[in-house]
Order: sequence, then C-alpha cells, then structure tokens
Amino acid sequence: MTILSLTSIQKSFGDQTVLKGVDFTVNSGEVHALLGANGAGKSTLMKILSGDYEKDGGSITLNQKEQYFKTPADAKEAGIEMVVQEVDTALVPSLSIAENVTMNAFITGPAFFSWRKRNKRAEELLQRVGLKLDPSLPLSQCSLAEKQLVLIAKALSREISFIILDEPTAALSTKEADHLFSVLRDLQKQGVGIIYISHRLPEVMELSTKITVLKDGFVTLHKDTSSCSSEEIVRAMLGNELVELLN
Ligand code: ADP
Ligand code: MG
Ligand code: MG
Repeated sequence: MTILSLTSIQKSFGDQTVLKGVDFTVNSGEVHALLGANGAGKSTLMKILSGDYEKDGGSITLNQKEQYFKTPADAKEAGIEMVVQEVDTALVPSLSIAENVTMNAFITGPAFFSWRKRNKRAEELLQRVGLKLDPSLPLSQCSLAEKQLVLIAKALSREISFIILDEPTAALSTKEADHLFSVLRDLQKQGVGIIYISHRLPEVMELSTKITVLKDGFVTLHKDTSSCSSEEIVRAMLGNELVELLN
C-alpha cells in the first residue's frame, strides 16, 4: 500500500532548478533509500517533505490525504520526523544530553518534567541507539558520532509514522552503524516508513528494500533493491557517459 507519494515536485533556488519534476512513492514496510551524487537534490527533496523548504510545484500525499506543509511543525504534526544532515543545527550545545533527547516531549508534554524522569527517559532512548552516556553531561562534550546518535534518539522520543535520515552513518563507526540498522529494522517491523539517504552503496544494498536515484532534477531509477545491481545504481547516479569514462 502506498503511504506517501510526492508528485511532480519542483524546486529552484534563484535561477538554479534543483528539482525539475520528481515523483517519489513509499509503500508501507519499506526502507526506502534515496541516492544521488552530491548536489543531486536529495536533502532538498526531503526538506520539502519535512516542511523545512516550501516546494515551487507538485503535491505531497500522505495516507491518501494531500498535505500542505508550511513549516517543520506541520510535518511533525503529521508524524514525520527528519534527522537532518546538519546535526549541530538541530541540537543545543549548551543543554544537557538529556534535555536535547527529550526536547520534543518537553515542548509538547506536561510543563513540569522532573530532571529525574527526564534523565530516565533519556537513558532509555540513548540505550535504544546503543549509546552509553551519562545524560546529565552537556551535549558539547559529545563527539560528532555521539551527536548523530543523540539526534536519532531525539527523533525516537515520540510516536512517528515516518522517519527521514539524511546520511546518518557519515560519522559513525561500522559497529555504531550496525546498531543503527537494527533500530531501523525494528521500526520497519512496527510499520514506520523509513527514508534513508546515503552515499554508501554496500549499506544501502544491505538495509534498503527500495531504491530511488535522483540525477539532474529527475528520478533516474525507482526499483526494488533485490532487483538492482550496483552497476545499474551507479549508472543512474552518474549517467552512462561518466561511467564509460571511468571504465
Ligand atoms: P544533496 O543532498 O543531494 O547533496 P542538496 O539538496 O543539498 O543536494 O543540494 C542540491 C543543490 O541545491 C545544490 O546545488 C545546493 O547548493 C542547492 N541548495 C540546497 N539548499 C539551498 C539553499 N537553501 N539555498 C540555495 N541553494 C541551495
Ligand atoms: Mg550532499
Ligand atoms: Mg544532502
């Protein structure tokens, strides 16, 4: 069943047209990988879905209902959580790890939240992503990999129907990435839709069930992962001419 469809999405920045008419659908139970060379527009497409950017044209349908996201809050309300590539912009370094992780609950939940409760909740969420950290420490003491995982823990702090992860393993070790994949597989079992942006072909082949490739403002591949070869994906990402040149 289709749970999300983006149709003819267009987006320009000044006179640069990044998305020229992108169609993208996600079915329930999918881990959907979004690929493309650097600058292909992957983050832009996902930021339209998360309400960070406004589209110039096209439509977004979620569970058969057309959506008009004007702000990230609109997308959050529809159950869409975005784990951005720019990790530092989404966290507050002067707050504790616990305060960062439980920020969603703190904003939308009860006004009073004891530090004890908050630390306990944060510990549970950190454990889920495989982090063993004292939640009362300031976030500024975290490494980049730890911050990435803190941001994912934050995304898991509320009920979500959709999660978008933008190059989440860029700063992670193999062990940390493996743990993240097990978390994502659990979410998949719970019926959460997952869109996963990555440059790393081996992990995409391992984790995803569906692949969409963007190039020059259009989708150049949209297929079940099991029926894709790596070469086919690289051709869709780079174009035949460049692939021939490299060979
Ligand atoms: P990708 O995530 O595939 O690497 P992006 O979506 O980040 O690509 O960027 C696609 C193009 O859009 C790039 O040329 C980038 O410079 C441009 N772009 C993205 N966001 C903005 C913005 N806020 N203002 C101007 N140009 C932008
Ligand atoms: Mg990029
Ligand atoms: Mg990007």
